[in-house]
Amino acid sequence: MSGASFILAINLFLSGLLAGAFMMIAVYDVRRVSARWLVFTNLLCMAYLIVEFSIPAFADARPPVVAAFALFLASTIAYNVGLARKYEVALRWTPLVVFFFAAGVAVYFAQDLPRHSLARMMAYQLPYAIMQLAGAGIVWSSRQRPELLDRMLMATLVGSGAQFAAKPFMAHALGGWGPAPQQYLQTSYAMASQSLGTVFAMAVAVLTLVVLVRDVMRDATARSESDALSGLLNRGGFQRHAELALRDAARHGVPVSLVIADLDHFKAVNDSFGHAAGDHVIETFAGFLRDAAAPSHVAGRMGGEEFAILLPGTNLAAARLFAEGARSAFSSLPIEGLPALHRCTASFGVAEQQAQEGLGDLMQRADAALYNAKKGGRDQVRTSAPCFEVRPSSWAIASGRG
Ligand code: GH3
Ligand code: MG
Ligand code: MG
Repeated sequence: MSGASFILAINLFLSGLLAGAFMMIAVYDVRRVSARWLVFTNLLCMAYLIVEFSIPAFADARPPVVAAFALFLASTIAYNVGLARKYEVALRWTPLVVFFFAAGVAVYFAQDLPRHSLARMMAYQLPYAIMQLAGAGIVWSSRQRPELLDRMLMATLVGSGAQFAAKPFMAHALGGWGPAPQQYLQTSYAMASQSLGTVFAMAVAVLTLVVLVRDVMRDATARSESDALSGLLNRGGFQRHAELALRDAARHGVPVSLVIADLDHFKAVNDSFGHAAGDHVIETFAGFLRDAAAPSHVAGRMGGEEFAILLPGTNLAAARLFAEGARSAFSSLPIEGLPALHRCTASFGVAEQQAQEGLGDLMQRADAALYNAKKGGRDQVRTSAPCFEVRPSSWAIASGRG
């Protein structure tokens, strides 16, 4: 077995492994269409490698050479479709199909050219180069915010495209790609080309796999941290995000306040209008908090009909304004599914973080303030420390709606 054949065999094994890895993602998360396309990419790549391997067995090399070319080009196209699905970039199929057939026909007829003519070599390599650069273009044009991994993938795709475009020149420099296709695998160009190709193909494949795994993990974490009914963070998610926000606020030396809210007489809402109506009140209040929250705020449903919202960069007075605004706006909101004149209310407890205070203590103080609000008659805001009184009309300013 020549060195190049050996590398082909390794590539076959690695493509199989990659197909399996993408398959696992596709099975784990069936909505991740990109993973299915990447399985297909690797299966096509395996088929290409098998055909490439068997070319020496053919008396007339033209059909297997065209087939190998078409399979590899199809795998780069399937890869780009997978990328486009992952990066949510619209793809037009007609130009892709036309490109695929035009490139196949060009390679078929290019074999009538002298074996070492630049045009013949370009006919093979340029379509691959174009597809890899198109892949980089897909990542580039995505509206998802690119992170380091995405940038690395884009750069590797550009490198891979440049490598394919450079191959005809590399072949010339290394003494050509054999007197006939059947001898290609014995040439030193085949060895260099297959090795370089493996390095780029593996770099692209592994980076793509890591990007997909990152997305899957991120989605799984977000799902495990969110509350299905309210769409807010659940208790665990709230605690993790709140801890991060507290750490961030400490680093920047800004105040942080916590507001805890609990719907009033909610059991009576369930008893009078049914559980579904109760659920709707929870959804409405949650939507209300979501709208009022700025991107830096952390809002969660702590369980039942209790909610918390952490306000970084907000002192007690401003947090109280926020809570007062939320209280008065919610108490005047008609709620779908309840009688037209029926209004729900909520009570609020507010606390500002004191030096060195952890989330647990801050929550306890806000809870104690909420308890006072309940005891004081409900539909009111209480703070855990003395705070100057504010009038409820300042909602627009506090919630950023002004
Ligand atoms: P208070 O003003 O003192 O807070 O009284 P309350 O009735 O709101 O509080 P209590 O703790 O007595 O009752 C809370 C009710 O919330 C009891 C429970 O059935 C209901 N609840 C908890 N989770 C859900 C939910 O997801 N959906 C609905 N519809 N009800 C829920
Ligand atoms: Mg309640
Ligand atoms: Mg409660």
